[in-house]
Formats: sequence, structure tokens, C-alpha cells
Amino acid sequence: MSQDEKELATYRNLLAFAGIVYLLWWFAVNDLFPTAVNPLPGRMFVVLFCFSAWILSYFSSTIARHTRLLFICSTWVITGHFFYLFFKNSGSINWVVGSFITVSAISLGLLSAEALFFYSAFVATLSFLMFALLPSVHQSLLLPGLFTILLQANIALNSRLKVIKNLAASNERFQLLFNSSFEGILVHEQGEIIAVNDSLARMFGYSRGEVLGLNIANLVHPDDRKLIAIKQTLPEVAPYEVRGITKHGSYVDIEVRGKPCIYDGRPARLVTVQDLKDRKKAEQEKIAFLTMTENVRLRDEFLSIASHELKTPLSSLKLQSQLIERDIKNGKMNISPPEIFFDATRIFNRQIERLTELVEAMLDVSRISTGRLTLDKRKVDFAHRLRDILTALQIHNENGPPLPTILVEAPPQLLMIGDPIRLDQIAENLLTNAIKYGDGKDIQVYLRAEGPEALLVVQDHGLGIAPEYKEKIFDRFERAISARKISGLGLGLYITRKIVEAHGGTISVKSDLGEGSTFTVRLPLS
Ligand code: ADP
Repeated sequence: MSQDEKELATYRNLLAFAGIVYLLWWFAVNDLFPTAVNPLPGRMFVVLFCFSAWILSYFSSTIARHTRLLFICSTWVITGHFFYLFFKNSGSINWVVGSFITVSAISLGLLSAEALFFYSAFVATLSFLMFALLPSVHQSLLLPGLFTILLQANIALNSRLKVIKNLAASNERFQLLFNSSFEGILVHEQGEIIAVNDSLARMFGYSRGEVLGLNIANLVHPDDRKLIAIKQTLPEVAPYEVRGITKHGSYVDIEVRGKPCIYDGRPARLVTVQDLKDRKKAEQEKIAFLTMTENVRLRDEFLSIASHELKTPLSSLKLQSQLIERDIKNGKMNISPPEIFFDATRIFNRQIERLTELVEAMLDVSRISTGRLTLDKRKVDFAHRLRDILTALQIHNENGPPLPTILVEAPPQLLMIGDPIRLDQIAENLLTNAIKYGDGKDIQVYLRAEGPEALLVVQDHGLGIAPEYKEKIFDRFERAISARKISGLGLGLYITRKIVEAHGGTISVKSDLGEGSTFTVRLPLS
């Protein structure tokens, strides 16, 4: 329930209460003083006033908004009515008592000091009026007026005490929150610290008392004081990092945030300080956790791909050897002439080569991750080596499915400094990928010197790469295609990138799915 709703409920109850008390009094007076002057319209007016205000407050928002005022009015109406009866009954002591009781009851229901003040002034005025009009009963007449004033003093004093008690309790609560906050908080006036919480004092190795009166510059690393001084002149500033300096002279990384405020009625600045140690630790832990999870994922993925990749050539070798064994046993295979063997040994050799390549790739990855990839740099003719690689590829593939057409545009000679074996690996990996993923279409290879760099471009018109994989494929074990469609370990481009980077170069890819890919390598010539 909001504060407004609570207030409305209180005044509604008070209105209803006033009406009921008045009704009770009505019945009591009828019995006790049947001969007294007590006209019905007057009584009806009071009762109707209280009850109609009470009921209408539920239906009309305007009345609801003014319930407090209506209650105060009802108290005036009731009191006025009492004094009227008192006057009409020529100062009978019974009416004095009646008004006396009413005045005290109503005073207790008035919740604000001003309402009480004005009500007392009203009662006092009525008392003095009566005193003037009925001099014969002057002492008794003055009683209600005096009584309300005394009551007011008493209630005002009590409410003041209550306010003080509430203030003390809320101050205690505030101090508790202020001091138990995880953030350091301080207030300074022109740099001089005038309020500080426990967390801040602890952060800097001081007690709270020791920090009070210090200049904030004392808490900041000398190099950062200028920055702090500038920030102080700004209105609310976004959090920024500086180095704090503790009582013992050590540095702490902190994040500071400040804004102007009014403290003890004077302009000051409120500053919150956060120790970054815990946050940095949490961030590092998070990164370590994510890396670990990612490593576990990569390892599992690698194990499944590697075992599949290694198993395929091994199964093929096993099958071939079983076939030979069976044929020899059945006398189907005549060991001479030896050419008969060649078909089998060719398959053996191809599979063994594939296994060796896989193992080499894994060794390279292990070299890279342990920082053991060293380059044996010398003067190399990259154009010459590129042509050699292409020839080797053709020879190597003599008995395999036909290779696509590979068009090469390269100068007769391109001299540069690099590791020849590793440069071969770059060209080989890009070319074998272009063949593997090129869908049998033509492949273009360009090599030229461009300024201080050698530029190698390998372009195919095959499967292409989806945008979300373009960056990833240069990472370990990352593949843009399922192993069931085209086998591979996802290591070639990773190794290529690492070799290119070790030479101080860059590698990039332009590709659209289904449109082919263009890999561009730039290597410094010297
Ligand atoms: P692998 O070929 O063994 O999977 P790579 O590291 O050489 O490993 O390549 C990573 C991935 O990049 C491949 O799985 C493939 O999805 C994609 N890729 C590489 N080259 C090409 C290319 N020329 N065309 C289309 N996709 C390619």
C-alpha cells in the first residue's frame, strides 16, 4: 500500500469513527438529558456530514483526495455544534463536560501539528466568545480552550520525540547500509573528505576517522591526480579507472564515479569507488572457465574427427593386406612378375602418405601450441617453388581422379626471404583445399610482388564458405563443412595462418556460399 493510500484509509476510518461516536453521544444525551435543548436538524447535519464524506470518499476521487480536509472540517463542525448546545443550554455543566470530552477525543485524532494548532485556535476562540456571551459561567467555559492548548503542547512534544526517535532509527539503518555497502563511498567538499564509509576506508587501509579530513588526492596515484581534478569539475561522470594509493603506499586499481550533491546544505561531491581486484579476478575466472570449456569441446571434437580420419586409411590398408593374403593362399596371386604387386603397394603407399600427412599436421599443431614452430629463413624463389609444387601435385595424382585445370599467373622469378619448406606448406594447403572444395571447376593461382610484399592468391569456383565461418576456419579444428561430406581435420588453414603470421604476413578469404572462394596471402619480401 502506498503512503497516499495509507493516509486515505486512516482519514476514512477517522471520519467513520467520528460519525459513530457522535451517534452514540446522540443516544446517550436523549436518555440522560431529555429536557435539554438539542434540535434535531443540528444533530442530523453533523451525522450526515461525517457519514456522507466517509461514503462518498469511496465513489468520488475528488472527495477521496480531500478526505483529510473533510475530517478536519468534521471536527470543527462537531466542536462548533457542542459549543452551540452549551450556549443554548445556558452553560449547563453537563455540556461543558460533553464539549470537554469531545475536544480531547478530536484532538487525539488530529494527525498533523498544523491541524491541531488551528483546531486549538478555533476552540480557544469559541471559549472566549462563550466567556464574553455567558459571563456567569466563565471559569467552566475557559476549561475546554485551556485544555486543548495543554493537550496540543503535550501531543506536539510527544510527536516531536517520536520524530526524533524515528530519525535516530532511520539514521542507524542508513549508517548500517552506508557502511556495509560493498562499494566505497565518500563525500568531499573541494577535495576535502567530509564523509566516508567503512568499505572505502578498508579499501585504502585506513580507519574511517583517519580518512576524514584527508584530501582525495592523497588516495590517488600521483599520475592520475590530474585526471581526477578534471573529472571533478564535470557533472555526473561515467565510471572510469584510476590507480588508488593505500595508506601503506601500495597501488590498487579502482573504478571511480562521481556526481555533485548537497551535503549538510552545502555543495559537495559524492564519489563511489570500486576495487577492481575482485572484478578482475572474477573476469579472469570466467575467461579461464570459458577457455577450459572451449578446449574440452575442441578436444572432443578433434578426437572424434582424428579417430575417423586415421581409421579410414588403416581400414583400407587392412583390407588390401587381407585380399593379398587370400589371393596368395588360393594360388590366385602369382608373385612373379612383381608388377602384380604394384597396384597393391600403390594403395598402401597412398594411405601411408595420408597417415603421415595427418600425423605431420598434428605435430605442427603441437609445435605451434607449444611455441616450437621455428623458421629456417633464407633466400627463396617463391615462383619457382610454386611451379614445383604444382608439378608434384600432378605427378602425385597420376593414378587418382583427374585434377581440375589450374591456371597459374606468376613471374619467372620471385625472390623473398622465408622458410622454403613452410612457404611450400602455405601454397600446398591452399591448393589442396581449392581442389578439395573446388567442385572440379577451374582454379586460378596468382603470384606477384606488390610493393614490399609477395601476393599469393588462390581462387576456386566451388562450394564457397558461409559468412559465419569465414573467420573461424583459420582456427584449430574449425570446419565449415561436415566430415561426412568431405573429410578433413580442420588443421590446414590454422597451420597456414600460423606460418603466414610467423613470416610477418596476413591471410584472408573472400567467399560466397556456392560461388567459390579466394584466399589471399601477403608476405613481406624481406
Ligand atoms: P580441412 O580441409 O582439413 O577441413 P582446413 O583448415 O584446410 O581443414 O580448412 C578448414 C575448413 O575451411 C574446411 O573444413 C572447409 O570447410 C573450409 N575451406 C577451406 N578451404 C576452402 C575452400 N577453398 N572452399 C571452401 N571451403 C574451404
